Amino acid sequence: MDLIKEIKKSRPFVIAGPCSAETEEQVHTVLDEIARDGKTALLRAGIWKPRTRPNSFEGLGELALPWLLEAGKKNNLPVTTEVANAKHVEIALKYGVDVLWIGARTTVNPFAIQEIADALKGAKVPVIVKNPVNPDLMLWVGAFERLQQAGITQLAALHRGFSIYKHAKYRNIPNWEIPIALREEMPEIPLLCDPSHISGKREGLLEVAQKAMDLNYDGLMIETHPNPDGAWSDPAQQVTANGLNELLSKIILRKEELSEEELSYIVVMREKIAGLDDRIFSLLSERMKMAEEVGLYKRENDITILQQEHWRNVIANRLEQAENLHLTNQFVRSIMDAIHQESIRHQTKVMNPSLKR
Ligand code: PEP
Ligand code: MN
Repeated sequence: MDLIKEIKKSRPFVIAGPCSAETEEQVHTVLDEIARDGKTALLRAGIWKPRTRPNSFEGLGELALPWLLEAGKKNNLPVTTEVANAKHVEIALKYGVDVLWIGARTTVNPFAIQEIADALKGAKVPVIVKNPVNPDLMLWVGAFERLQQAGITQLAALHRGFSIYKHAKYRNIPNWEIPIALREEMPEIPLLCDPSHISGKREGLLEVAQKAMDLNYDGLMIETHPNPDGAWSDPAQQVTANGLNELLSKIILRKEELSEEELSYIVVMREKIAGLDDRIFSLLSERMKMAEEVGLYKRENDITILQQEHWRNVIANRLEQAENLHLTNQFVRSIMDAIHQESIRHQTKVMNPSLKR
């Protein structure tokens, strides 16, 4: 299969199917339903499932592979499954799986990736690489480089978020800046999003999927199951085929290219925004000059730079205003911290002129 060509043909390029293959009937039922809607380009099912803890369902292995392949053939769609070691690659290639994917728990380990890359030498199969579980761009880049060096040219990236301890909203926090940085680093590699593993809850899928498409991703992988609540793995995040269809029809596909008229409006607005930024920065510069004056005064009177109590009040007052200003607490806090650090640097400079900053 020419994965890159297929991804370019349909936007979004949709991959769907159950988290895990559980029974022959389950695989056929859900993949037939998905195929009937005509919106999915690649069918998935996990056969080997690296799970974080033992005693979780870790997949049926080779036994389930023919079910996936038969469902694909019957519906005239290519199929994909996860490989986590050389043995999986060997078996998947023997059966003729159209596309392989590498999971987040594997991308994190360079030796595991190298083993897979070595097993793939000479094969023509496309490979989709999920981001590593930790927010390390270079591990992700490194995985692509190892596969490229093994002669794999058909590669795509799949963003599934990064491990986080007890987050209120996400199962895996998206850190959108990392896939964006990957696209900067390797622009030739198509970028897909896996809202199922980012959100962890079916109610959160649309928001993540919409954001991915607004960031110009090429496609989506959505876990789909005939009876999501009864799934043997990841029940809370899976949707039925109907649910998938509905979700896809709700996504608004926006364009990247602008018409002349749109561009002229946006250029004017960007200029206005740049004008505001100019004002913000000249105020900041003025603020730092004032901090230096205060620094001189503190120096002459032997007062410390930091008065903890005062700083606590400054932050508390600003945070109180955040809501009225329509700003998040997190944003106000990080702006204030940055201003404070810069201000301390300026005061330190005038108070201790002989010390390096
Ligand atoms: C999966 O896609 O079912 C899976 C195990 O994903 P991840 O590697 O993102 O955890
Ligand atoms: Mn899953």
